[in-house]
Amino acid sequence: METHTHNGSSGLPFCNQPNGLPDPPALQPLWDSVLRREGLLKSPLFPALFNFAVYTAFCSPFVALDLLSPWLPFLRRYKIQPQSSPTPQMAWLCLAQSIYHHVVFIFPVTVAHWYWRPVSLPRMAPEVPTLLLQVAACLLLFDFLSFLWHLLHHKVPWLYKNFHKVHHKHISTFALTTQYASVWELVWLGFFTVVGPMLLRCHPLTEMTFFIVNIWLSVEDHSGYDLPWSTHRLVPFGLYGGAPHHDLHHLKFKFNYAPYFTHWDRLFGTLSHSAKPREVKVNQD
Ligand SMILES: [Zn+2]
Ligand SMILES: [Zn+2]
Repeated sequence: METHTHNGSSGLPFCNQPNGLPDPPALQPLWDSVLRREGLLKSPLFPALFNFAVYTAFCSPFVALDLLSPWLPFLRRYKIQPQSSPTPQMAWLCLAQSIYHHVVFIFPVTVAHWYWRPVSLPRMAPEVPTLLLQVAACLLLFDFLSFLWHLLHHKVPWLYKNFHKVHHKHISTFALTTQYASVWELVWLGFFTVVGPMLLRCHPLTEMTFFIVNIWLSVEDHSGYDLPWSTHRLVPFGLYGGAPHHDLHHLKFKFNYAPYFTHWDRLFGTLSHSAKPREVKVNQD
């Protein structure tokens, strides 16, 4: 987490300021409640546990949908590829790989990061507009860097074969395929996640908000469901691709390289909106 200087004059939470001083930020009560768990936040275990807990929490409603859909057929109308369903064994293999990567790779990397850049938490919360703007900027930067990485790993056969192919094991996505990837891919995606908050010197609350939003959007991308409240339905003008676009990437392989937004694929001529049966080619690599 980013290092910050102490920003409050008294060193105490900003909620008991005397009259006449500026109002505390609207997020101060939330940030004060987070600060009450300062010991947990500063623990070297926290980043890996936070990532895994948020990831599995966001996957679980979609896992429940997959388990229920054989008995509740109306749920299948929201499935992007209604003919396919993950088996419990497929789901468990993805989860087991995720646990293994968190324990063997992500945990040591985050502990090393904790050692070199100890967490320091400011007393004051960020302002809401600043938080929203910085989260949007971090998402756009993550989307751009991921697009370039993804395009490169499809255009260079050696990179695809050695580093990205494993993520394409499933041509029909389900939530737990989100982090089913090589260590190389996870390390780069992790770097693209932390570089935005570092460059923008984000407040830790902004950084955590971005991490949570980013994990949600990546899980939704792979959920295999197009629900009435899916993000791509909430963002106007087709600016956001979301689950239908990324599912199509797993199915058709050579379109929709950006994880979230559509502008980079539009610019590079790699945007595709729908799977026409005659165009569908299953990846045989
Ligand atoms: Zn790909
Ligand atoms: Zn994917």
